Amino acid sequence: MFDNLTDRLEGVFKKLRGTGKLTEENIKESMQEVRMALLEADVNFQVVKDFIAKVSEKAVGLEVTKTLSPGQQVIKIVHDELVELLGGTTEQIRLDGRQPVTIMMTGLQGSGKTTTSGKLAKILKEKGRKPYLVPADIYRPAAIDQLQVLGERLDIPVHPSTTDMKPVEICRQAMTVAGQKGYDTLIFDTAGRLHVDEALMGELKEIQSAIQLSEILFVADSMTGQDAVTVAEKFNQDLEISGVVLTKMEGDARGGAALSIKSVTGKPIKFVGIGEALDALEVFHPDRIASRILGMGDVLTLIEKAEAVVDKKKAEKLAKKLRQSTFTLEDFLDQIQQIKKMGSLDQIMGMIPGINKLKQLKDAPKPDEKELAKTEAIIRSMTKKERQSYKIINASRRQRIAAGSGTTVTEVNRVIKSYSAMLKMMKKMRGKPGLVTGQKRRK
Ligand code: GDP
Repeated sequence: MFDNLTDRLEGVFKKLRGTGKLTEENIKESMQEVRMALLEADVNFQVVKDFIAKVSEKAVGLEVTKTLSPGQQVIKIVHDELVELLGGTTEQIRLDGRQPVTIMMTGLQGSGKTTTSGKLAKILKEKGRKPYLVPADIYRPAAIDQLQVLGERLDIPVHPSTTDMKPVEICRQAMTVAGQKGYDTLIFDTAGRLHVDEALMGELKEIQSAIQLSEILFVADSMTGQDAVTVAEKFNQDLEISGVVLTKMEGDARGGAALSIKSVTGKPIKFVGIGEALDALEVFHPDRIASRILGMGDVLTLIEKAEAVVDKKKAEKLAKKLRQSTFTLEDFLDQIQQIKKMGSLDQIMGMIPGINKLKQLKDAPKPDEKELAKTEAIIRSMTKKERQSYKIINASRRQRIAAGSGTTVTEVNRVIKSYSAMLKMMKKMRGKPGLVTGQKRRK
């Protein structure tokens, strides 16, 4: 996410950090570079112009403080302005107020509406709501099936729409069914076209006047950059959208849509899609994203993800095992599974502060899904006894494990070696206050 932009800005700030004194000259020079970086990231021209004007104005009038160097102060100003550009505060969807909550998903074909409808329903269900998925795209028959399949996978009810009904009738009927069955949150998945057209807008307006909508979300593919912004503006003019969902953000190295859409449309980004999996939808936090763009990482999201997937009881048990050095290969496998649940390694790495700089080093370790998968396969090919006490894994067992996991004996050796190194390290740490034991340091 935003890798190119982050690289460019880190370069600019590295220079600034080195300067003890800020002059109008070096502020001007670095603002010129920030401007280029933003334009290359495909940020709207006018948005860039306003941004640079604001940052420059604040930077020139900087008071000297004791806590931050002038360079750091400029970085802070850029950070704060980036937060503003991204929307300022986190905007949640409206769940209080009139019930049932009704959310209409709009956008062009292929933007990710149907997938996002499923992902959103999942989030709402986890919040204790009773979502009802309503397919209202009658032109692409597969769209109804697609939502039905998603609903089945998520165990969320889907309205039995048929292609011979008008979208507005489907929505009305779904409202009645929701009332009867007690579903409190309806998500209408509407049709998309390849381009904005009047017939499509007419249809969406018809739904808008028939149903009291709580939210009209515009779903856009972030990879389409400024096109996404232009289409968002059109939808906003015609329908008055209430928020934006940017999909496919994990593959967007530039970030132009994310950085322009709020300024241009005045409507906040509420969620971002970061993968095809059904849990790959995140609430959009402008401050956290700004930190990520500036290479400062996003520790808060990382912690939230860890908390969401890590089973507390398991974690406590694990801590005990670490203390007593009874951590087996079986536990190792368990750990790998927990990490995998947090997302792809690349996604996890992206949230760690400073990781971008590390990535640029020549010998930097690369997140390698394949290695993780191999390690998993190797441990899975061991017998239970072997996992409990790795010392019994002799040469012939290693050969069997390699054959069973489709790897080589060298690779099996590597896994066993790193596991035993880990055990040794834990033994060493045992007894050291504040480390593995969890004891408090004595004052
Ligand atoms: P719709 O035509 O707007 O309903 O779009 P779909 O929901 O069918 O999505 C089109 C494609 O984009 C599908 O292959 C989705 O899996 C994919 N997609 C949707 N959201 C994301 C995302 O956040 N990341 C990635 N990589 N793919 C996504």
